Amino acid sequence: MIPKDVCPNGGVGCRVTEGMGTTTLAFYQPVYNEFGVNNNPDMNTTTIPLSCSTCGRKFISTYQGGKRTVDIVPEESKEIASED
Ligand SMILES: [Zn+2]
Repeated sequence: MIPKDVCPNGGVGCRVTEGMGTTTLAFYQPVYNEFGVNNNPDMNTTTIPLSCSTCGRKFISTYQGGKRTVDIVPEESKEIASED
């Protein structure tokens, strides 16, 4: 999902396409403590570019350590749509 505050329509009606993602390939050897908790979790980062065909905004979705964040690509890198 795209954060509601980043689209002119509040995210309603957005049609978001995922691009080709990339993942870092560091190896994290699991280290478990006496409670079975992994103290060395996989912290590789997966980065997926997203673009909305409705409002034309671009985003970067980042997954790391089971958390997902979405960041807006700055406006100046956005292509100006001349058609429509
Ligand atoms: Zn949108």
